[in-house]
Amino acid sequence: MEKLENLILAAAGIYKQPELVDEIITLQEELNQQIDKQINQQKGLACQKGCSYCCYGWNVQMTIPEMLMVIRDLNSFSPEKRIKIADRIYEFSNLNDYDGVACPLLENSLCLVYKSRPFICRTYSSYDVSLCENRKEFVFPPFVEKIIKDIVLPFEENIEEPFRTLFETKVPISNIKFDYHRGLFYLNLANTIKIIPTPEKTEISPLEFAKKYLQT
Ligand code: SF4
Repeated sequence: MEKLENLILAAAGIYKQPELVDEIITLQEELNQQIDKQINQQKGLACQKGCSYCCYGWNVQMTIPEMLMVIRDLNSFSPEKRIKIADRIYEFSNLNDYDGVACPLLENSLCLVYKSRPFICRTYSSYDVSLCENRKEFVFPPFVEKIIKDIVLPFEENIEEPFRTLFETKVPISNIKFDYHRGLFYLNLANTIKIIPTPEKTEISPLEFAKKYLQT
């Protein structure tokens, strides 16, 4: 309950100050840079461009700032391509079983939002591609746990509530929404506000709970 309250409070804050969306995205970009720095120092990883075994079989979870980044990137594609991606996400969101199913953001073995990919995709690291290919379980290298302990958790602790909850809450990729009328992807934040981030600007509008929780 506390989590939902914080999400609604964060939504109220963003509704009053839409520029907070850019600040949240900038913070997430800074965090991603720190994570990438650590990953780039690792030797012997099998992960490389075009290898996408890890993009099959799950509904990837991401934090709300990560989803805002992903949506902003998706909104930079052409209108035709956006509709294609939206249809794929919609079909994906209706599945009960993801076994063997590609992530809807995978195209020609490449991630459409590679620069903005969420933490789990960014840090999914393997030293043996045959384990990924054969879908064998493997233990993540210890540096991933170290990244969480030394970088992610201290980063989150520095953010004040209610906005910290945005960085701690995970939502599945199937929750990315598409407004077919506008032709744009958006985030539904706690049924309180609709956030449409695009590379040019961010639009915010009230949703169902706004009447109850915001002064609209
Ligand atoms: S978001 Fe990108 S990297 Fe992550 S599973 Fe989907 S296609 Fe793969």
